[in-house]
Amino acid sequence: LFQLSVPLNFIGSVYREVRLSLLDMEQMFELMDTQSTIDNPPTGTALVYDPTIMTTDISFHNVDFAYPSRLDRPILKGLSVDIPHGKTVAFVGSSGSGKSTILRLLYRFYDPTNPNTGTVSLGGHDLKDMPLDSFRKQIAIVPQDTVLFHESIGYNIHYGNWDASWDDVIEAAKRAQIHDTILSFPDGYDTVVGERGLKLSGGEKQRVAIARAILKQAPILLCDEPTSSLDTRTEQEIMNNIKSLGSDRTTIIVAHRLSTIQDCDEIIVLHQGQAVERGTHQELLELNGRYARLLKMQASSSTSVP
Ligand code: ATP
Repeated sequence: LFQLSVPLNFIGSVYREVRLSLLDMEQMFELMDTQSTIDNPPTGTALVYDPTIMTTDISFHNVDFAYPSRLDRPILKGLSVDIPHGKTVAFVGSSGSGKSTILRLLYRFYDPTNPNTGTVSLGGHDLKDMPLDSFRKQIAIVPQDTVLFHESIGYNIHYGNWDASWDDVIEAAKRAQIHDTILSFPDGYDTVVGERGLKLSGGEKQRVAIARAILKQAPILLCDEPTSSLDTRTEQEIMNNIKSLGSDRTTIIVAHRLSTIQDCDEIIVLHQGQAVERGTHQELLELNGRYARLLKMQASSSTSVP
């Protein structure tokens, strides 16, 4: 699976918890207290994000990728895309086209399979040249499926950044529009949540993830939109929340529902391992190519559902 040096049954249980969405990777590493097979340069130059001297431009250059367990099945083939600092960009494409894989590479859960020619870089630095934690600190993740600890809701938000004050936790909850909901819980911020505690809805869990991301104050936000768990209105609200997190943030959204990302700065269409179209919603509509077809397909499949 991930070629980690921990017992398989443990991977199994953690794996079930986090599912094959964009894994809540930070948590995953912490839970397993281990590293994936990529090698972490101990002596590399730490990425110190200073907005006055560097940007968070993200670049995939000529990236080939296949999962280690399925090397015969290429997912990305010479993918090259640039995502400029401060933009909100969405990846779209049919199921299995590699959208979530892009986020995994950006978090360096995996390396490109052609490490000598394919690079993923941040602010002009190859990820491979930087200690993992130095650039992961700059990236906040709103995963498809947020893992909650069997702890208080306050703890679950604070988890985003233990250096933050309690006032910051409350402020983040307010911005993620979950504060009022929390106050309505029996013990407010002390209410224990999770599978065995108070069970939160999909929308509420995603708001917890957004609050964590706000608390982390990272300049890059990766968001793997849930495939099906939320109703369209909640989904739209959450996307609005994500977009309102600030224009100085670089945001990448993996979109399953095309309706929620129409006002992104740019939409990138993945097909057969490459970026085949990119532009605004309007530009791609006018192009009348793959994006337009995906939209039509989605419209017809949602109208066929009673
Ligand atoms: P969806 O819209 O269905 O979420 P996606 O475009 O996000 O799809 P990815 O999750 O990036 O697709 O997966 C791309 C392909 O790689 C899929 O066919 C998937 O089955 C496969 N894949 C994903 N993770 C692994 C893994 N750990 N090992 C082997 N294959 C994998």
